[in-house]
Amino acid sequence: MELYDIHTHQILLEDNDDPYHSCILDVYPLEFEFAKETYKRHSFSCGIHPWYSEESESQMKYLIEIASNPRIIAIGETGLDKIKGPPFNVQIPVFKRHIELSEQLKKPLIIHAVKAWEELYHIRKEAEPIQPWIIHGFRGNAQVAQQMTKVGFMFSLGERFNVDALEFIPYDALFCETDESETTILEVYQQISSALNQDIEYFATQIAQNVQRIFPTLQKPKELKTQ
Ligand SMILES: [Zn+2]
Repeated sequence: MELYDIHTHQILLEDNDDPYHSCILDVYPLEFEFAKETYKRHSFSCGIHPWYSEESESQMKYLIEIASNPRIIAIGETGLDKIKGPPFNVQIPVFKRHIELSEQLKKPLIIHAVKAWEELYHIRKEAEPIQPWIIHGFRGNAQVAQQMTKVGFMFSLGERFNVDALEFIPYDALFCETDESETTILEVYQQISSALNQDIEYFATQIAQNVQRIFPTLQKPKELKTQ
């Protein structure tokens, strides 16, 4: 079984060279240089979190400089958060610059979204992006999943997700993640596959196919034997 964690802020349960799973480690632009030397086997997403989108000009400049590095395989996390961070008139322009960068560099977008489904839906319809947009840590309900699927969003699920939403997420639009949680990626796979009533090996094969399609340069982990 090959396990992939497509959004994490930490690399848990392994030394740098233990190939138990492959990660997309989320780093802030200024962290990238250090992180790329520390984690040789993993890849990165890089962006400005919506919480910190105020006065982010210098980070944005730096992001534009480094974002073409092949080790950065996704732009973000970026997005919109109605609960925390500056108002949307500050968040939205910064989000839109990430969208431009994602399209220019042909790298998928990793999205943080809290109570912003409407806005996100309309921004996507207006932007008509070619690149995949993945809502990370998705906890929306069935109705939101249905709505967002219609306009082509993809979803990454972590330890807390809405079981009712699962039936509306197409299998080819699904990923797994640990984000900031201490739950292991294996536990996340177990939770989601059992909610789907699927054999974990079968589930993992589907996720691996999605990862290979959307992030073809992410290095494969060694197979984890479950028995
Ligand atoms: Zn995150």
